[in-house]
Amino acid sequence: MKIKDILAGGRTSVSFEIFPPRKDAPFAPVKETVRRLARQRPSFMSVTYGAAGGAKANTADIAGFVQSCGVPALAHLTCLTATRESLAGEIASLRKAGIENILCLRGDAPKDSAPPPGYFAHAVDLVRALRRSRFCLGGACYPECHPECAHMEDDIGHLREKVDAGLDFVTTQMFFDNNIFYRYLAKLRDRGVTVPVIAGIMPVTNGTQIARICALSGTYLPSRFKAIVDRFGDRPAAMMDAGVAYATEQIIDLFANGVNAVHIYTMNKPEVAERIMANLRGILASDDR
Ligand code: FAD
Repeated sequence: MKIKDILAGGRTSVSFEIFPPRKDAPFAPVKETVRRLARQRPSFMSVTYGAAGGAKANTADIAGFVQSCGVPALAHLTCLTATRESLAGEIASLRKAGIENILCLRGDAPKDSAPPPGYFAHAVDLVRALRRSRFCLGGACYPECHPECAHMEDDIGHLREKVDAGLDFVTTQMFFDNNIFYRYLAKLRDRGVTVPVIAGIMPVTNGTQIARICALSGTYLPSRFKAIVDRFGDRPAAMMDAGVAYATEQIIDLFANGVNAVHIYTMNKPEVAERIMANLRGILASDDR
């Protein structure tokens, strides 16, 4: 099923994310995670491509497995280090696996090698390459501005270009202050970006990791959030309770304010998704989903 149809008419949508196994790592644990996540009946599940050490070659297989569990899959695809030939190979694998949705991303430059000649410089180039395909296309956006872009207005201009090239929806980078998202959404609508914007929520269950991730991505940590990490960050069970509660509260506030599409960065932790979905059970049961 295409994600643009899942989101049509502003229907409530809660999606999850999974990393494929690293190179040479076994598939079984990731498949078990997919099975557990699928039992929560997410609207769709996205499968990363080369992020957090996940092997790019395994994205199509895991996305195919997600669909065999009855959940539509969104396969991430990056283009910065791709050639037209390698891209054609990836697209063929995705088609073979029955995938209908692609998240078009630039990716980050490898530290140790230059991109191959003829590379795609920006995600918009990938969107242009795929716009005549039958895939439903999504892209990334940044409520706190992409770290390489000096001005939010320019970053939104680049996003508009990407959307005009053929995106059907966009998913945001994580944020921990919903007001940042609301202001960003208003700016996007002002600048004529009208596609559905899926709010990306990261449940934080590991205090040490999050400080590093936020420093790299430029994500603002509200003082209420910092207090949680300071107090519970080195106690895993406490941090799990607090992180699940914080993410749940963010999601309820988004729903209450009319944002109907939420993507949970589940980070291969099914127990986190299960606890958040249990907290939302009554809300989701009464919603049109
Ligand atoms: P782009 O849209 O190309 O933007 C990158 C930068 O270039 C921005 O600063 C933008 O303002 C600027 N720019 C864009 N177009 C132009 C232009 N025409 N001229 C000048 N400047 C321009 N990474 C992975 O490796 N694998 C994943 O699976 C993955 N999944 C992700 C999922 C989400 C929801 C998000 C938010 C990010 C994900 N990433 C992933 C990270 C992503 O690859 C990086 O954030 C990357 O740095 C930018 O990717 P992009 O697609 O946003 O790039």
